Amino acid sequence: MTQIAPFDGHALAPETRAFLERPHRLLIDGAWVEGSAGTRATVDPATGLKLADVQLGGAAEIDQAVAAARRAFEGSWRRMTAADRTALLFRLARIMQDNARLLAELDVIDNGMPMFIAELTVANNVEMIDYYAGAILRIEGSTLAPPRHIAAGGEALTYTLREPVGVAGQIVPWNVPLSTAILKLAPALAAGCTVVMKPSEETPLSALALGQMILDAGFPDGVVNIVNGLGADAGAALAAHPGVDKISFTGSTATGRRIVQAAIGNLKKVSLELGGKSPVVVMPDADLEIAVPGVAMATFFLQGQNCMAGTRIFVHESIHDRFVEALGAFAGGMTLGHGLAPGTMLGPMISDAHTAKVMGHIDRAVAAGATLAAGGRKLDRPGNFIEPTIFTDTTADMAVVQEEIFGPVMAVRRFATEDLDEIAALANDTPYGLSGSVWTRDLSTAHRLVSRIRAGHVSINCHGAVGTNVPFGGFGQSGWGREFGQDGLDAYLETKAVTARL
Ligand code: NAD
Repeated sequence: MTQIAPFDGHALAPETRAFLERPHRLLIDGAWVEGSAGTRATVDPATGLKLADVQLGGAAEIDQAVAAARRAFEGSWRRMTAADRTALLFRLARIMQDNARLLAELDVIDNGMPMFIAELTVANNVEMIDYYAGAILRIEGSTLAPPRHIAAGGEALTYTLREPVGVAGQIVPWNVPLSTAILKLAPALAAGCTVVMKPSEETPLSALALGQMILDAGFPDGVVNIVNGLGADAGAALAAHPGVDKISFTGSTATGRRIVQAAIGNLKKVSLELGGKSPVVVMPDADLEIAVPGVAMATFFLQGQNCMAGTRIFVHESIHDRFVEALGAFAGGMTLGHGLAPGTMLGPMISDAHTAKVMGHIDRAVAAGATLAAGGRKLDRPGNFIEPTIFTDTTADMAVVQEEIFGPVMAVRRFATEDLDEIAALANDTPYGLSGSVWTRDLSTAHRLVSRIRAGHVSINCHGAVGTNVPFGGFGQSGWGREFGQDGLDAYLETKAVTARL
């Protein structure tokens, strides 16, 4: 039976209430400016109540923001020493730490995530800014043997420089709003790029609060510009803009294709973090004490609105029935509720439209003959709450196995073989390749299976173990490039090779 967490609707911190009452404009060239594309109400998906009207920018504001970012790139930001840029990023991290409650609450009420996740992400975001701030003074090139035809003529010197790519456009989704903003912003600024960021129109609030903190930290005008707007309008304008040198996009694979097409005009560099349908393989010797909660959370964390979600669960037939029963009991005991309510493990779906899409997937899975082993209902209460849902008896051709649902829906399949190539073939039967996990007590089996799984990020006896310094990105249609760690910084750097005849 699904538990419902009680919610005291007046639990917001004073600073969060004060923030909500301010006007919500666009940050361009160091100032908050009006958007020309109207306003959009952002709502708390756990209650359906409006939080704020947020201004929208369109192509005109993207133009202004790109021009401001270009001026800053060629002026104030480029002239600043690496040590001063480091200090600014450290200062931003401290301001975020001091405002951790505000930032966490904004993601809870705008996105619906439970507070324990929001608190974790703010802490991770601070760590990430510190990490990239510390990396600035370690950006380095190398010295190389000069080319033969130059060296033959006398003394020569060849070396490489790492230089910022330029003006970076960054497009952010709604599912982990602040984290996605920070994991793009921090390496870009560390590399010396300037930024035009477009938050998701569904969840703009934490990015706007971050914008004020960037001003308070003292970043020069135009280094960071934040233009909230609709994807097809501001987002498309940013992706196509000839003044943007690189676009970094996180979102759906369908939108990723549009980004690539839009970027063709000036052949800007493109990084893509896209969708997934990640496999979870539970071997017969798995430690069920950790595998049951671990696999449940692989799917249900962030109520399944998680790109890394492990949603195709392959369970060996020798433990299948026991495992599914335990998963069902775990799912049934999860507490759904408002993210601010103590004890909430799962929040709501982001919107009515997304709820309808997820419920459509559930209905189609039933119609296709999958067995509904747990959940499956939208709760009869305000907000878009869907029970953690488990399907068994699924087959490879079912949409519930093939398509990214982005909701709390798990598709379990049983397998009989112990041949690792055959198991990997099941796991790899998807166009995606973002994440995955293997659950077994036999570490030899684990590593051999990991080497056969086609995904950018695979975990053993845990799932989705992302970390500031650990590269993250997709194989296949899950994306291009890597974020986090050194790879994340490299994505905003060009290499320039220099040869001097001395
Ligand atoms: P989405 O693709 O609908 O939107 C993402 C962003 O792109 C939003 O800011 C949106 O306004 C903008 N956008 C939409 N259309 C655009 C266009 N034509 N041109 C430019 N920008 C446009 O995705 P979403 O629904 O916000 O997020 C969910 C998706 O994101 C899921 O598929 C999920 O797997 C993926 N995701 C991937 C990762 C990852 O790291 N791989 C992380 C989080 C989310």
